[in-house]
This record gives sequence, C-alpha cells and structure tokens, in this order.
Amino acid sequence: MSSFSNLQLAPSLARAVAEMGYESMTPIQAQAIPVVLAGQDVMGAAQTGTGKTAAFSLPLLQRMLRHENSSTSPARHPVRALVLLPTRELADQVAQQIKLYAKYTQLRSTVVFGGMDMKPQTLELKKGVEVLVATPGRLLDHIEAKNAVLNQVEYVVLDEADRMLDIGFLPDLQRILSYLPKQRTTLLFSATFSPEIKRLAGSYLQDPVTIEVARPNETASTVAQHFYSVSDDDKRRALRQVLNQNGLKQAFVFVNSKLGCARLARSLERDGLKTAALHGDKSQDERLKALDAFKRGEVDLLVCTDVAARGLDIKDVPAVFNFDVPFNAEDYVHRIGRTGRAGASGLAATFVSGSDQRLISDIEKLIKKKIELEAVEFEDDRPRGRFNSGRRAWAEEDPRDAMESSSPPSRDTGSRGGRGRPAAPPADPFFNKPYEPTVRAEDAPAASWEAAQAKSSRSVSSNIKTKRKVPALFKSDEPV
Ligand code: AMP
Repeated sequence: MSSFSNLQLAPSLARAVAEMGYESMTPIQAQAIPVVLAGQDVMGAAQTGTGKTAAFSLPLLQRMLRHENSSTSPARHPVRALVLLPTRELADQVAQQIKLYAKYTQLRSTVVFGGMDMKPQTLELKKGVEVLVATPGRLLDHIEAKNAVLNQVEYVVLDEADRMLDIGFLPDLQRILSYLPKQRTTLLFSATFSPEIKRLAGSYLQDPVTIEVARPNETASTVAQHFYSVSDDDKRRALRQVLNQNGLKQAFVFVNSKLGCARLARSLERDGLKTAALHGDKSQDERLKALDAFKRGEVDLLVCTDVAARGLDIKDVPAVFNFDVPFNAEDYVHRIGRTGRAGASGLAATFVSGSDQRLISDIEKLIKKKIELEAVEFEDDRPRGRFNSGRRAWAEEDPRDAMESSSPPSRDTGSRGGRGRPAAPPADPFFNKPYEPTVRAEDAPAASWEAAQAKSSRSVSSNIKTKRKVPALFKSDEPV
C-alpha cells in the first residue's frame, strides 16, 4: 500500500494525518488524491468506510492552502469548498473528519443540516468559512436567508450522490449548482453508477477521471452470511439465539419501516436487551444520542432503517441482522457492509420468512451466490424467565403508515404479520419486566474490534452533546 509520505502533503496536513494514525493510504485515497491534486474532476465509486472522506478532503485542503490567512475579517474567508451529503449524520461525520484534517491549518470549516436551529449555523457562516459541509435542503435555506454566499466556490463534492438522488434531492442539487461558478473542480462519489448518476455527472463534471474501488455487489469475504428460515413470530427469539450462540454483544438490526423499527426496539428492550432505535422520525438529537450510546457500548442493539443508517461511520460491528429482508437487494450489500470490515470477521444473519422469496432471489442475483436457507434450532422453547411475547406491540400495526423512502409503498413492510395475529395477551405489568438476559455485556469476551475502540482518536462533534469522550468503532491502527 502506498504511503502518505509519497504525496508531499503540506506539513500542516501531514501532521494531522500522522496524528490520525493512518499508516498507508486506502485504495480510494491512493487513486483519488493524486488526481484531485492535479485539478481533475473525479467520478468515484466508493462507499462510506473506504476512506473516501480523506480521499477528497486532503487534496482539497492542500489546494486551498494558498487561501490560508489569519485575518479576522469574514470577507477573507469565503466558502471555497462545498461538500454536499444526503443525511445529517453523514454531514456531521464528514465535517468532523475535515476539522481533524484541517486542524493545523488556518482554513475554517463548518457544517449545516436540517433539524437544528438555524441561528448557531448562521453565526458560524457569518464569521466566514472556507469549507462548508451541508445537506441540500438546509443549505438552500441559508442561501435564501443570504447567510451563505457561494460565488467563490472552487471545489464541490457531491458525496453519496446516489442516495441524494434516491431521497429526491435532484432539484435542490440543481439549484445549488446553479449558484456556483462554472470554473471549478467537481468530485462526485456514489456507491453505484446508475444511468441517473451518469446523467448528473454528464451535466456537472468536466472530463472526470473514473475511480472505482468497491463495486456495490461485492460483499466482503470476511462476512459470514447466514440466511435463516424463520416465521415472523419467531424472529425475535431467533435474534436472541443467534446472539447468544455467537457470544455477540452488539449488533445492528435492520428493519424496513419506521414503525417496525420503533416497535421492534421496544419489544427487544422488554426482552432485556439494551436497545435504541434509529429511524427518520427521530429528532436529530435523539439519533445522535442513540449512535453515541451504541459507540460507547451502552446500547447492545441499534435497530435501524436503511435511510437512517445510511452512511453512518460505524465499522467493525460484529454482527448485522436483517430482521426484514430489504426490498432493494443493494441495501442488503450496504447493510452487511457494516460488519467484517478491515479484515475483521463479521456475521450477517438474515431472517427469511415465507413471503420473501422474490427478494432473496434478487439478492442471490446481485451477490452472485446461491443462498441456502438454514433452520433455526431453538435451544429453549421460551427464554429464561417470563416475558412478553411482544405480540401486543405488533397487534394493531399498519406498516404502510411508516415507510421510509427506500421501500416501495405498496408492499407490506418488514414489520410483517401485524394483521391477523393472535389476540394480545392480557395487560399484566409483570410481563413488562425485562427478563434476565443470558449474555451480559460484562460477561461476554471482549471482541477484538472493541479493543480497537480504546485506541481511537476520534472526537465528538460539537453537535453531539455527550459528557464523555466517544471511542470510535474502527481500527485506527490498521490499514483499511
Ligand atoms: P470514510 O470512508 O471516509 O467514512 O472513512 C472511514 C474511516 O476510515 C474513518 O473513520 C477514517 O478516519 C478512517 N480512515 C480513513 N483513511 C484511513 C487510512 N488511510 N488508514 C486508516 N483509517 C483510515
């Protein structure tokens, strides 16, 4: 792998990189950094987790150093680089990383996204920033309020462009891009190069260099993929069983609907697992808190929808559960990409019920592997202690109320079987008492990915109000 020292980065940037503990460049960095330094546009196929933030921000910062100045005048710090991302979490994470890389320079950066008060963002913008990280909707609000002036932008990054189009940001992107000078460098990153992405690139990029590092249908060979045939009623039990059998302490649990997400999280909580839900209806503060609690190990299971989890910078999670088979096969690849990263082994368990056959064959086609369904052999008929079967929680659900954008609205969702289920058990406060879980956090053997957390140097964003330092879930001491 190539070393950062070959790049001849400015000492201020090289120092920041050294502090991050990066030993060598990741493939996207090795390919993209020289191209961006040379001033060419880039169309990059790379997912979050490949080191793509550094791949675009280091060369952009290097090129912007010529504008570096210590003046306190906002006019001397116009926006020179604009980084657009689809979600608040992604924007926040990318902004945090850029701050770290720019730490020893005099270049300023900030982030604006929706769901937060505009005022503090406005104050930051008015002070002047060279790098502006933003989600499209909130950026337009600031442009309209004349808080952000973009006529001196020289560099634009459209990150997770496929997701921005999926979410319906194309008109917003077109408007934003219309405010920018034509003479600029544009970098577009996307997990896929769909015809829409190619059209977007055709309209806004000039002779881009195409860089591909991880195709969307590639699943890491370090991920053990299991597909369990299990009825909707038995999925929660199956989840606990797979966790216990594998001595797993933490996992992501994916579902297809917002409502299903909230309800599953509550049911699992009642089963005695420390659980948090991450979905589009959660406030920004709640989402960031849930994520932080998971990173700190205070939450065992993070139950999430695809939209809410997209792009979250959490790696080396030991297991990913597809409680619902995703509607889009590509989401399967995205979901399980959370585990088995950087050479660590991971487990991806997918619960398949009778109605999922078509979705499973879509996944088979995408990953080009035959999927063998396994049966779950339950060790015990009931978990220890008395517990609420959780059926009550699902009883009156109409999953169509709560779809997030990645799922087709006409289909039944992952929180399946809501209708026609057996009657709810009678209300009895005893049932709501959590049962004693079989594996407790403190009993479980420390996984290697956890040990790596302690070494991490990532800090918490000013947007995340935590009292303690948050360790990250990646191996900062190993090459990606
Ligand atoms: P990204 O794909 O940009 O979200 O980056 C994923 C994670 O990899 C971030 O936490 C980075 O800090 C980390 N990272 C980026 N580049 C490297 C590198 N060259 N070596 C090790 N870790 C890296």
